[in-house]
Amino acid sequence: MMKLEAFENYIHKMNDLSHAAMLLSWDLKTKAPKNASDSHISALTTLSTEVFKMSTDEELRGYIEDIENHEKELDEVTVGMAKKLKKEYVRSKNIPTALYSQFVALTSKAEYVWEGAKRQNDFNSFQPYLEQIVELSKEMAHYIDPTQKAYDVLLEDFEPGIKSDQLTVIFEELRKGVVPLVEAIKTKAPIDDSQFYGHFDKEEQRKIAHYLLKQIGYNMDSGRLDESEHPFTIGTAPFDVRITTHYLKEDARSSIFSVLHEGGHGIYEQNINPRLKGTPLATGTSMGIHESQSRLYENIIGRSKAFWAPLYEEVIKIIPQYKALDLEDFYRGINRIEPSLIRTEADELTYNLHIILRFELEMALFNNEIKVKDLPEAWRYKMKKYLGVVPETDAEGVLQDTHWAGGAFGYFPSYALGNVYGAQFVHQIEKEKGYSLESLLQRGQLDTVSHWLKEHIHQYGALKTPSQLIREACGEDINVRPLLTYYQNKYTQLYKL
Ligand code: ZN
Repeated sequence: MMKLEAFENYIHKMNDLSHAAMLLSWDLKTKAPKNASDSHISALTTLSTEVFKMSTDEELRGYIEDIENHEKELDEVTVGMAKKLKKEYVRSKNIPTALYSQFVALTSKAEYVWEGAKRQNDFNSFQPYLEQIVELSKEMAHYIDPTQKAYDVLLEDFEPGIKSDQLTVIFEELRKGVVPLVEAIKTKAPIDDSQFYGHFDKEEQRKIAHYLLKQIGYNMDSGRLDESEHPFTIGTAPFDVRITTHYLKEDARSSIFSVLHEGGHGIYEQNINPRLKGTPLATGTSMGIHESQSRLYENIIGRSKAFWAPLYEEVIKIIPQYKALDLEDFYRGINRIEPSLIRTEADELTYNLHIILRFELEMALFNNEIKVKDLPEAWRYKMKKYLGVVPETDAEGVLQDTHWAGGAFGYFPSYALGNVYGAQFVHQIEKEKGYSLESLLQRGQLDTVSHWLKEHIHQYGALKTPSQLIREACGEDINVRPLLTYYQNKYTQLYKL
């Protein structure tokens, strides 16, 4: 006898606890008074621990088995939920509790040590922590699935179904396409964007942020925009998906593009089919697909001239300083390509090389080809080789990102995968609609793009795997060509290559 109602109540409770934890986490990063942080963290830990316990409880295992035995009689959402919960259950259950606690304690400490090491430009103080994190990650990966390469097991957390061998091929093709373009651009006069710097009123920046979010279809009745140190998206999809930004007074571009980026993440989750509400499937299916949506709105759409053409009159009304720039100047100024040291500040094109460098170093670490102590040197070598710039300090090199301190190996590839997927989607939209993205945008038909994305990607949440989504939406597997063609066309024209 199926205990479907008991299962649904169980899921309902898990979801309510997660929702409360989400609100605490959001409040902590946006609005909470400084002195409230201890009690917030305490409540957040209690709720998260409870959710973790429930996700590894025998009671849940019983429900999952029950559903597996009655799969044919059940709807796809119930079956999909059981599949997702089982995967998480197996992953958590296989890791010995003591090892997991050790890892959580180590990474909490390491994040703190990393902050200091970055501030002081002192890799040596961070090195022993990173060595331990790599070792424990390998151990945990072995417990989860001893038949797979450790790095492949870790990738599964961020991009289910993709393997490192496949990534190596994809990134090699991407690198071979991007490096010569960057080299060619370097021989041209750099774009002068000095007019983009000045003093930008926060109220104006907030106004333009709301205006742009409205244009791209972010729903303020199911979301909100706040300020935080680092921009992020958080929520309980589809009816409460919040985003944040950070306003720089000297350059309004920073917030404009982070709002388009987080807006893209937000739209994805807001468009998830309401029948998935309250289930573990009401979320993005992978980090790579999530990044495809944010990067599509930020870069392929947001850095195109056609997107701004119908809006530009309104833009200069809101930000009067931009009156000095015509649309062409504006377009050029938001597309300045220049190899740089810091990933988060990199342009659309060279950004990929920052990711490939990190992926190659992660692979080398997990395949025992290099040691943690060799990372700073290997970093400099690859920066020189791929980007032609070399950091003078480790703070601007191997210590710049927090991911490794948090033990998130296998996370970085998602960003570049997002670029690849995004271009594939646009290519498919152009094929189906018979118009280029440019002509759709020029005629103010961004909603044609949004509707396609909702229908083929967003609505499914985590009901389909990334590879299933791509195959069903584009009729092919992951493919780097559309992204490279897009870069070729755009930058050949922009830089007259
Ligand atoms: Zn993102």
